[in-house]
Amino acid sequence: MNAPSTPVLRLRSASFGYDGKPVVTDVDLDVGRGEVVAVLGPNGSGKTTLVKGLLGLSEHLSGQVEVLGAPLSRLRDRTRIGYVPQRHTLVGAVSATVSEVVDTGLLATRPWWRPADRTERERVREAIEVAGLADRATFDVDTLSGGQQRRVLIARALVSRPEVLVMDEPTAGVDRASQDVLAGVLHRLADEGTTLVVVTHELAALRGIVDRIVEVDTGHLTFDGTPEGYAVHRAESARLAGRTRLS
Ligand code: ADP
Repeated sequence: MNAPSTPVLRLRSASFGYDGKPVVTDVDLDVGRGEVVAVLGPNGSGKTTLVKGLLGLSEHLSGQVEVLGAPLSRLRDRTRIGYVPQRHTLVGAVSATVSEVVDTGLLATRPWWRPADRTERERVREAIEVAGLADRATFDVDTLSGGQQRRVLIARALVSRPEVLVMDEPTAGVDRASQDVLAGVLHRLADEGTTLVVVTHELAALRGIVDRIVEVDTGHLTFDGTPEGYAVHRAESARLAGRTRLS
């Protein structure tokens, strides 16, 4: 685990939504370099909208969004922040091997017409190995299981060595073997100091690496603190809900 330091993500009164309509409102959040933040909350509460806001993928309606020390719009090198989208698999994608798909994660860093050089090929190999897919590198992605395909997407996000990695439900709906590999990948990234923001329902898979929990409910941040503090918050919420039911 890493102590919070320079904020790499900074939101002030930030609101995000779609087509001009707010979904998440008035969020204040600082995430330090190397922090591992789990974003929790009920379905439809706005978790995805919030993390997409950090990447410019949901509409930024008001407030400030700073990524790696500058307003998001001024972030020139987008490979510094990686993203693994929710429940996205590669089924039906054009026929491509695992290596080819992972290499697309480097396309922003070289002219599209130049093939990968030796250093880049080595980075692709490494990312595939980290994702536990070394024995699948030459397989077509559409021959892989859903869990393996999600690992391909994670390798693609890792290959440019982003300083911040945002993952939306990386362990949802994947087989047990893939869950274990993913937990290992997250541990390794956390140890290496990558800032991780992970939307998840399966906090157990992240046990031991999460520094901080952010809870989103009906478009608002309802908790921001340590995992220990979150346990107290949940117990208190349950107690209040019980009292409301009795009265
Ligand atoms: P969560 O990740 O917590 O399940 P989401 O951020 O996906 O929540 O969704 C929050 C709300 O935003 C939902 O009401 C959802 O219908 C709406 N929403 C999500 N994506 C879009 C979109 N692309 N366009 C319009 N509304 C959306």
